[in-house]
Amino acid sequence: MKNLRDFTYPELLLEVEALGERPYRAAQIYGWVFHRDAASIDSMTDISRELRERLKHEYRISGIDVLDVKRSEDGTRKFLSSLEDGARMESVIIPEEGRLTLCVSSQAGCALGCLFCMTGAAGFTRDLSLSEMAGQVFAARGLLNEGERITNIVLMGMGEPLNNYGNVIRFLSVLTDGKGMGFSHNKVTVSTAGLVPGIKKLGHDTNVNLAVSLNATTDEVRSRIMPINRRYPIAELISALKGYPLKNKKYITIEYVLIKGLNDTADDAKRLIRLLRGVTCKINLIPFNLFPGAAFERPDAEKVDAFHGIVYDAGYTVIVRASKGADIDAACGQLRGRRAVPDRVK
Ligand code: SAH
Ligand code: SF4
Repeated sequence: MKNLRDFTYPELLLEVEALGERPYRAAQIYGWVFHRDAASIDSMTDISRELRERLKHEYRISGIDVLDVKRSEDGTRKFLSSLEDGARMESVIIPEEGRLTLCVSSQAGCALGCLFCMTGAAGFTRDLSLSEMAGQVFAARGLLNEGERITNIVLMGMGEPLNNYGNVIRFLSVLTDGKGMGFSHNKVTVSTAGLVPGIKKLGHDTNVNLAVSLNATTDEVRSRIMPINRRYPIAELISALKGYPLKNKKYITIEYVLIKGLNDTADDAKRLIRLLRGVTCKINLIPFNLFPGAAFERPDAEKVDAFHGIVYDAGYTVIVRASKGADIDAACGQLRGRRAVPDRVK
């Protein structure tokens, strides 16, 4: 049985046509599924009983199964979900000043194996479908407190979004469609480890925000901690960023995980300034978040401040991102998609 949450609007039009129904039915069904979050075909009350019965022979509406919710003292909530084949993933709701951001996973696991990331250490299971990405938004809504509303969506959970390109683009189309989930493209961000061909395509296919995890200023260090750099080295990545089509007032977010003794020196800060000259960007410094078995440490606060100061004095917009939800292992790089954390992660 097909899940109605797995069709974009153009795809649903084809389904409806194959059923011999008029095109406006597709708009009705799509609105029920994505705009009104209908739980069942039976709840689509402006569709005749006869058509609903026919639909029920071939289609269903199913969500993801939330197995576990952890709540941080700072208001962050992390939830673990199980998918139909038993694969698991995590998503995080993050309250910030005036915003409530949902961090969505695009894959169960990740194949890119960055050494500082728990998701990478845990390996790759599979790509997530449109319904599994949209399902995270609906499931998150079910966990909100009275008066809360998700304002921003970031594809910064488990996985590399540009390695699941087709489904991510389909998800973004439903997410930013006023007749679908209705988020403004300004409130949606895709984060990538730097897949150059994917970045080039994304700039043409969408106008959501782009974030790039740079994390080092030399190919030697970047290749060591992010194996993908051997395929798309820093110079190629920066040149793709310079060519990225930015709409009015938009900037690329550069993420830089600060790791003690590895990429946190004054020389790194100066190289970062030089590298990013000509890139319209805002820089997020993320002090490394620990996880069991991690081979790295977080720099001292003074070191983080000094790095920030050098980049700031060069005229960049740069912030140190306070990692929320660290007490429930919900901070950047801590998602693994398992209920229990093992003693050691290789
Ligand atoms: N695969 C994409 C999307 C995941 S975003 C990407 O890498 O961009 C995950 C973000 O968390 C990335 O910016 C990554 O650099 C950062 N991150 C990963 N592990 C981390 C850790 N242990 N501490 C702090 N940030 C981490
Ligand atoms: Fe994958 Fe991103 Fe983690 Fe690297 S940082 S392993 S690309 S999720």
